[in-house]
Amino acid sequence: YLNQYLSGSYFKTNRTLHLRKLNLMVQNGETIPIDLTITQIKDEESCVLGYVFAFRDIQYRISAEIKMSKMLKLENLLRESSQRLITFQIDEALLSMLTQLGKMLSLDRILIVQQTPSLKSQVVACWQKRGNPKKIDLDQELAELGQQDFTASFKKQPITIITPSANQKTKYLTAILAPLVISDKLQGLAIFQYKKIQTISDEDINAIQLTSSIISSALKRQEYESNLAALNQSKNDFVSIASHQLRTPLTSIHWMVELLRKRIDKLPDKEREYLDLIDSAVDRMIILVNDLLCVSRIEKGTAELENEQVDFVEIIETAINDTKGQLQEMDSSIEFINNTTDSRSKVAAHKKSLQQIIMNLLSNAIKYSPDHSIIKLELNSKDNLIQFSCQDQGIGIPEAQQSRIFEKFFRAENTARTETQGSGLGLYICKSFIEAMQGRIWFESQENQGTTFFISLPRLEPEKEPNMPEVIIAEDEKTLQLALE
Ligand code: ADP
Repeated sequence: YLNQYLSGSYFKTNRTLHLRKLNLMVQNGETIPIDLTITQIKDEESCVLGYVFAFRDIQYRISAEIKMSKMLKLENLLRESSQRLITFQIDEALLSMLTQLGKMLSLDRILIVQQTPSLKSQVVACWQKRGNPKKIDLDQELAELGQQDFTASFKKQPITIITPSANQKTKYLTAILAPLVISDKLQGLAIFQYKKIQTISDEDINAIQLTSSIISSALKRQEYESNLAALNQSKNDFVSIASHQLRTPLTSIHWMVELLRKRIDKLPDKEREYLDLIDSAVDRMIILVNDLLCVSRIEKGTAELENEQVDFVEIIETAINDTKGQLQEMDSSIEFINNTTDSRSKVAAHKKSLQQIIMNLLSNAIKYSPDHSIIKLELNSKDNLIQFSCQDQGIGIPEAQQSRIFEKFFRAENTARTETQGSGLGLYICKSFIEAMQGRIWFESQENQGTTFFISLPRLEPEKEPNMPEVIIAEDEKTLQLALE
């Protein structure tokens, strides 16, 4: 290897040659990393007398460099993993973290074991250097490690290194056990394994300790999330059952009031007024109960919104018709500008839900506007979208509360001054429905000036005229031919 330098032209122009990170084989067959400096010695007539070889043992420097790069990699891994474990799906983030750590520490297998509430141990994650993990007999594995009842025996130990005795038949000759403390209780074990007998450095222990504490936090998060999901589920069930149960008696009251009204012609004014009050209260309750049912279906994921071809103009006209009573009461009016041609106003939507959305926006516009207002509706066709807008000159939405307007049960503070009835569910339902239909909803508003709500939905291409059947006329008599044509 050196000959190429010594016999080549290198030393004609240079006096010293520096070679870095070579491997020098020493007598016992081991190799030592070295830096080599070769200096040429010449006499006064520039005749080469010889060379000085200076070998510098760089073992310590190299191992320090390796340690340093390992530490840097570890720091990165821990930083990334703790972020991923907070924001990503836990199983996925956990496996990616174990894969990286396994490679970094040249491990053969990592097992994350957790004790379930019924005190049964189970593997929640497993990484293996080669091949897919086979079915693990955890009881046997824990028995081999002497950890059948690890929560009892592990109380105070931080990290334990186990090297099974030679007579034990096990694939893994070194195991590092790290406790996983979840909700202040020892509930899991991280097991890091090598197939051979391995010396473990302090840095490796450090890495394992840090990783284990990150895994503990992730499992804690999982525990909280599953508790939260269970609570959410029971809340949903309650809302769903309560609204179902309320709907039937409310509908009966509604029909009974209608019957009473029809049957009793000469009802004194006062009684008629009471009947009207009962009727409108029942109507409001039916709307609220229906909204609650809608929300519980959305949250359960059972709101089936299959898109069909819907004529947007027809939906708007129906909504205008349905709000006639409300409009008359407030002496307000609606202006509808349709800038689309009929064939361009077809959208892919769930008809009943789109009806509900438009109705909600329209009745909000009337409700949150003073008497004698004009509500402007507009339908436009933009690129491949149909855009609907509903503009009012009402109370507007205070800027500080605009970001919360689509939240469930949220009502802006200025509605309190208007003595309007509402549950704050309408816009939440609108947003959930419109997004399920691949559409978008947004608004622009200024307090005391007015609000415009916008909706956009994908436009359906107008259907092509079907091919007309062809008729061949076989008639050589000209007049008859014309008549047939
Ligand atoms: P509700 O009208 O039953 O209170 P919504 O979910 O339909 O519930 O609306 C939520 C809130 O948004 C309302 O309480 C009101 O504060 C505000 N809001 C909605 N539409 C308008 C509008 N056109 N003008 C002013 N405020 C509005």
